[in-house]
Amino acid sequence: MVSSGLKKICWSIFVSALWSTAVALDPGMAASETIKISWDPSLVRPGGVVPVRVTPPTGLNKIEAISINGQFPLIQNRGGDHIALVGIASIFKGPVYNLDFKLFPPGDADPYLVDADLQLAVKMGQPARKQALSLPDKMVHLSETKLTQVQQNTRFLWKILSARTPERYWHDPFLLPVQGRISTRFGVRRVLNGVPKRPHGGIDIAAPKGTPIAAANRGVVVMAEDFYLYGKTVVLDHGWGLYTIYAHQDSIEVREGQLLERGQTLGRVGTSGRVTGPHLHFSSFIRGAKVNPEQLIEATSDL
Ligand SMILES: [Zn+2]
Repeated sequence: MVSSGLKKICWSIFVSALWSTAVALDPGMAASETIKISWDPSLVRPGGVVPVRVTPPTGLNKIEAISINGQFPLIQNRGGDHIALVGIASIFKGPVYNLDFKLFPPGDADPYLVDADLQLAVKMGQPARKQALSLPDKMVHLSETKLTQVQQNTRFLWKILSARTPERYWHDPFLLPVQGRISTRFGVRRVLNGVPKRPHGGIDIAAPKGTPIAAANRGVVVMAEDFYLYGKTVVLDHGWGLYTIYAHQDSIEVREGQLLERGQTLGRVGTSGRVTGPHLHFSSFIRGAKVNPEQLIEATSDL
């Protein structure tokens, strides 16, 4: 049994062959002193949200995960398992996603470092579907002034999204902010007036103008602004680097700094910004990785 010093255990797993493993932290340990890690490989794709389930040895003090998106805590579910909610960025090219775990034994002993990467083979999935749209030309071919404004908006948004609130405000599953038809799914490649654009970074939910927009989960309003392309936009910080964004609103009904409960109305569906009709553009980020909100909802449904 190691009581001091840094213990390193290394292993690699390729999802195509195996998606669950149990590793003894020390040779000769009982089964209750192994760590079991499992996940659903089909979720491991760009924009995917992967709940990686860790069944730790008994008596462990704390577990942290480390990925390219930084170090982060795990969520403990009712069954006693620990969940690392991993967001695979939409731009992630793979082929492997590196994830390490730091296991803190009780007392002052140094942490175990499971450091040689839990490697998730990233499936690149099917080629994205295309969607052609027609818009007023000035909304597609931006003037220099408008382009500068859009770039400023983007920089401002990324600054907001780069903050890491140590507190986790949410405890229940994420929900769809508006009940309606999903008119454009995540990752769809759009062609505006014949000009190919980047893949769609969220989901569009079509709903009549004025439909209330609910907070997808408990969180703090960290931005309420009027952007050129996104229109009237609210950003919620749910803590632990998890954010949701609500764009093209008709009106914003909350103010910055306000703590919203899950399901609380934050604004109304509208047509502000670059749109072809009233809808909510809903997007989500996990520690800087832009992820599919439908997967965020699914991944948190049984936590
Ligand atoms: Zn959209």
